[in-house]
Amino acid sequence: MNRGKKIVILSHCILNQNSVVKPYAKEQKYYFEFIKNFLLNNCGIIQLPCPELLILGLKRWGHVKDQFEYPYFKRECKSLLYPIINQIENYIDNGYEIVGVYGVKGSPSCGINKTCRGNWEGEASCYKNLDDIVKRVHLVSEKGIFMETFEKLLNKKNIELNFYDIDDWSE
Ligand code: SF4
Repeated sequence: MNRGKKIVILSHCILNQNSVVKPYAKEQKYYFEFIKNFLLNNCGIIQLPCPELLILGLKRWGHVKDQFEYPYFKRECKSLLYPIINQIENYIDNGYEIVGVYGVKGSPSCGINKTCRGNWEGEASCYKNLDDIVKRVHLVSEKGIFMETFEKLLNKKNIELNFYDIDDWSE
């Protein structure tokens, strides 16, 4: 039987750097070794949707978690995640192993152990200069809004998964 019955769940941009906010995209081969290991171990891959791309589009500015903590964004995250939760539930009920969820360190949406927060709002002209804007951003030890929502929805179904960060953060 060729079915590995193992599945890993990856943040969208690990498999598609075209979704990343400018200018942070890397060449896709940067992730080759990481992805290759799953394939060599006969592990299937579920690609999560990219909430920022779907809600804000390719021309979005970079954001911090504080800017996503409003009801509509959270509701949209939930809608994007329900079909994934349904698949996970179905796989687990049929004896498949979910080996883990990989997010992206520092992302306001997909960070696992670290996300970015900051006192940001309004036009760039509200701030003294670029340095004033950049200095307001800091990493905190919590999940991004999408992964936080994902974990809560899983917990409601009594599903506990291991979450890991890919360290992609640019200081
Ligand atoms: S970290 Fe998440 S929100 Fe950001 S580009 Fe990747 S998939 Fe999209």
